[in-house]
Amino acid sequence: MIDASSLLESARSGNRRSLSRLMTSIESGQIPSIGDSDCWTLGVTGPPGVGKSTLIGRMISLWVSDGKKVAILALDPTSPISGGSFLADRIRMQHEGSEDCVFVRSIPSGNHPGGIPPHLDEMCRALSYCGWSRIVIETVGTGQSEVKIVAFADRVLLVDGPDRGDIIQAEKAGILELADVIAVNKSDLPSAESAAKSIKLSLGLVDGDQRNVNLVSALDGTGVGQLISDIEKCQPDGVRKRLRMKERILSSWDSLLLNHPEIDSYISRLCDGSITTSEAIETITMSLRMEDE
Ligand code: GDP
Repeated sequence: MIDASSLLESARSGNRRSLSRLMTSIESGQIPSIGDSDCWTLGVTGPPGVGKSTLIGRMISLWVSDGKKVAILALDPTSPISGGSFLADRIRMQHEGSEDCVFVRSIPSGNHPGGIPPHLDEMCRALSYCGWSRIVIETVGTGQSEVKIVAFADRVLLVDGPDRGDIIQAEKAGILELADVIAVNKSDLPSAESAAKSIKLSLGLVDGDQRNVNLVSALDGTGVGQLISDIEKCQPDGVRKRLRMKERILSSWDSLLLNHPEIDSYISRLCDGSITTSEAIETITMSLRMEDE
């Protein structure tokens, strides 16, 4: 039996083992709720290979030198069985020696109903309660599941590379719309500038879209300070906030539906035609309402 409050207090006082145990307990659903704690969360997404981990590494250094404590939750699609903490390991390697101010945790992203790993919210709130003032949620790729995960964060950074082709996927999935801040990494390479220009151009097609496209080089640090300042300043505007809330509500709804104890039976009845989709939805919502009462 876990004593949640002593684990929480020990993690808060800086005990790293307790913090890891706390995260594991929350992840496995053994600690139900931390209560309200305001957290600062940033979702970072972009196609594999554009330099997200390297860039996050740079950002961590700047934040830490500014006295911040930075936690990274790396949503890792690789199998936990094959030791899938690839992202986490890479970030960890860059920050040996700064253990007190940097916490990296890999979370298997897997196939969760609703798309968001369960208890992500609780993990963020616990981290925040324990003094982690910057929480970065890193995802790989720019598909629909990434949209759901980054929509969970309060601000979103989309990272692209010099090959403009990459961002087209993000555009398709809707991440470009969700992103508060956009960065084109690898500005040390010649094609980065034209990639940034064409993204800017495609943003400009939408009336009043004032978003800046930051050219950065995670390799030599160019532009990373400015990028952080943009992220810190960003006040998710009405449209993007609404889009994010819509994604959150859709994910919660999906997860409610897919975790419903009788979902399989409804699917079978839909298959044999004994129930219609709207009847199924109606019965499920009714049973959810009864659960609530
Ligand atoms: P991720 O998959 O998006 O996390 O990308 P990584 O951070 O693993 O970087 C992928 C590759 O790009 C690595 O070989 C990095 O060294 C390289 N890389 C990262 N940032 C830069 C950059 O600013 N310029 C150049 N030229 N290479 C970079």
